[in-house]
Amino acid sequence: VTGAQASGVMEPAGQDYQDARAPVDRRVDNLLRRMTLEEKVGQMTQIRLGKLRGNCEWNPGPLREDCMEAVLEDAKVGSILSGGGDAPNPNTPRAWAEMTNAIQKYALDHSRLRIPLIYGADGVHGHNNVLSATMFPHQIGLGATWNPELQEKLGASTGRAMRATGVFWNFAPVSDIARDTRWGRYYETYSEDPVLAGALAAANVRGQQSDPTDGTAKLTATAKHFAGYSEPFNGHDRAPAQLPIRYLQDTVLPAFQPQFDAGVGTVMINSGAVNGVPAHASKYLLTTQLRDRMGFRGVAITDWEDIRFLVDRYHVAANYEEAIAMAVNAGVDMAMEPSDAAGFTSGLLAGVRSGAIPGKRIDQAVRRILTLKFELGLFERPFVDAAKADAIVNGADRALARQAAAESTVLLRNEGVLPLSTGARKLVVTGDSADSVARQLGGWSVGWQGVPAGSPAPPAVTVLQGIKAAAPSANVVSATTRADAVAQAGDADAVVVVLGEDPGAEGEADTEEPALTADQQGLVDAVRATGKPVVVVLLTGRPQVLGTVADAPALVAGWLPGTEGGSAIADVLFGAVNPSGKLPVSWPKTVGDQPFSYDQLRGANTAAGSGYDPAFAFGHGLSYTTFTTSAPTLKSAEVRRDGQVTVSVTAANTGGRDGTLVVPVYVHQPVSKVLTPDKRLVGFTRVTLKAGESRTVEVSFDVRRLAVTAGDVDGSGKPEVARGAYDVVVGAERARFTVR
Ligand code: BGC
Repeated sequence: VTGAQASGVMEPAGQDYQDARAPVDRRVDNLLRRMTLEEKVGQMTQIRLGKLRGNCEWNPGPLREDCMEAVLEDAKVGSILSGGGDAPNPNTPRAWAEMTNAIQKYALDHSRLRIPLIYGADGVHGHNNVLSATMFPHQIGLGATWNPELQEKLGASTGRAMRATGVFWNFAPVSDIARDTRWGRYYETYSEDPVLAGALAAANVRGQQSDPTDGTAKLTATAKHFAGYSEPFNGHDRAPAQLPIRYLQDTVLPAFQPQFDAGVGTVMINSGAVNGVPAHASKYLLTTQLRDRMGFRGVAITDWEDIRFLVDRYHVAANYEEAIAMAVNAGVDMAMEPSDAAGFTSGLLAGVRSGAIPGKRIDQAVRRILTLKFELGLFERPFVDAAKADAIVNGADRALARQAAAESTVLLRNEGVLPLSTGARKLVVTGDSADSVARQLGGWSVGWQGVPAGSPAPPAVTVLQGIKAAAPSANVVSATTRADAVAQAGDADAVVVVLGEDPGAEGEADTEEPALTADQQGLVDAVRATGKPVVVVLLTGRPQVLGTVADAPALVAGWLPGTEGGSAIADVLFGAVNPSGKLPVSWPKTVGDQPFSYDQLRGANTAAGSGYDPAFAFGHGLSYTTFTTSAPTLKSAEVRRDGQVTVSVTAANTGGRDGTLVVPVYVHQPVSKVLTPDKRLVGFTRVTLKAGESRTVEVSFDVRRLAVTAGDVDGSGKPEVARGAYDVVVGAERARFTVR
């Protein structure tokens, strides 16, 4: 039966919600009119997979009819998620597709109006939930590529893999900016800079949400976590943040705007509190900023259990019902509950019936959710072809993964050691991350905290394996103890030390010591004492304070490089790829450098003027060739406050190898009424040049990027572009323009 027949309502032609040819807003109007309040609040609820199986609790095992009945039929829940690690058994693409199809079928068959479910999961570096999926570098590595086109391809690949398994909602990318290396989710961010992070995240969204060519529904990405999540005041995940409005408006929120402009379908809310108000209860964040000022039109979902936390953690609500009203009235459209479907829906119903939540707020939220489901095509294409899932996901896009990991790799120091010769006779490979798939994949890999103990290893190439493959005629020796590494170094051509950190996620990955351990430094010291050339490769999710390793003759940051990490690192070490990665973050010298970023405000009483004194600066990264950039020239020396500035720069490869140069463009404001950083990134480009080649490239940026919140210390205004003089800065050269 069609929806119209089921509900007994006859609709004019072209307005029935099941008519795929009708415009989406008509379909939504039509469906909304037919829905009961119970059906509406069900749509606003997302429940975890565990509740549909095992004993209807956090339990693996097959789907259970009685559990599905409670969640999907009785509570009429509109969305299911797999939290980190919640996968079918066996964890194959086909089993995923069969499982999501079965849940979808149950939902449709038991929904009076046949409203499809939307299934969500965290595909934060590829479809990392699936054992056999290709895992890309984590975002922090991708930040070092400064390559939006690549991000778009990676997004498209992730979207393809997730859709093949029936997951049409991806809780990625992270748009938070990285400012505190103690924070356990540092590696999930692209950059400390909002312009770089925003550009990469928007490109990733475009890729993920691109139109499928494989007959499935579309996928929605998520901009998360709105907003201020990455700045817990003490570095601990979810600790409250204290963010002056000026900083929030001028630095934190701008990282999200490009995704909103790119049409990201959903936003996930910051689990923390900002300036004394939990984000989930903040009408200022969720409505004034998100909707009214930033123009986001999609669905706002809570983070995990965060309405309940308004009661249990924050104590801003006396009970769950009050918390639900607070969150929904602030602007929450859907609750990632994730466990108590009946509790949430009955609390929401009670709120509407008591008048605490206006009925039109419910309609607004449900309208957004239904619009998303219609726009994705879920009404027409609710199922996937499970027989195709393995072929689509297994081993997909390994070349892309290798390219991404190689472009992520940053050559921090090189005193003539690299590239290594593939003709080397003997190479020693040592260190705790030299041959560990789990460590190079990091958190959110099969399991939430990384590859679970006892799990079969996901397919991947470690650095040890990558080096063996790159230098097949060399005797590549794996040394697993310090003594062995030193002994083996005696007749070796070089020693490669690969250091990393244990995988982890969220609060479990917080640290008070974001530094290489004494043992790790001791290993490097010992092999350096042999006098052999030493290369240190860092496979870490944050720029660890280096201690004695800071002046190692060759230092390479490979981040958490994913499935093809070992091949990509070997590509760079042996020179098959000329490194082009540039730091997307500032590398701290000491563990006291928290929070840390290049764009500190002027005024500190030091020669540098800001106190910024990193081990390696934002944007640093060496190559095997040399480049120069010319002074910037401007298309026009005068621009309006809503205008565009176009900068031209001639880049030249002055060395002996082909290579790629990232050209960051900054703006310096000679005089500003409120403090600004000495320079702010406004745009960037990448240019690939043959040895000896030069080319003129253009970078344009919107003058609105220069906006800062005006006014006295209360900073109560909106961001505005001040009129007057500005300098475009490229390398050591400048060009002046005036904003009229
Ligand atoms: C994380 C989110 C994630 C969600 C679902 C939460 O703990 O903060 O980033 O999307 O879990 O797995």
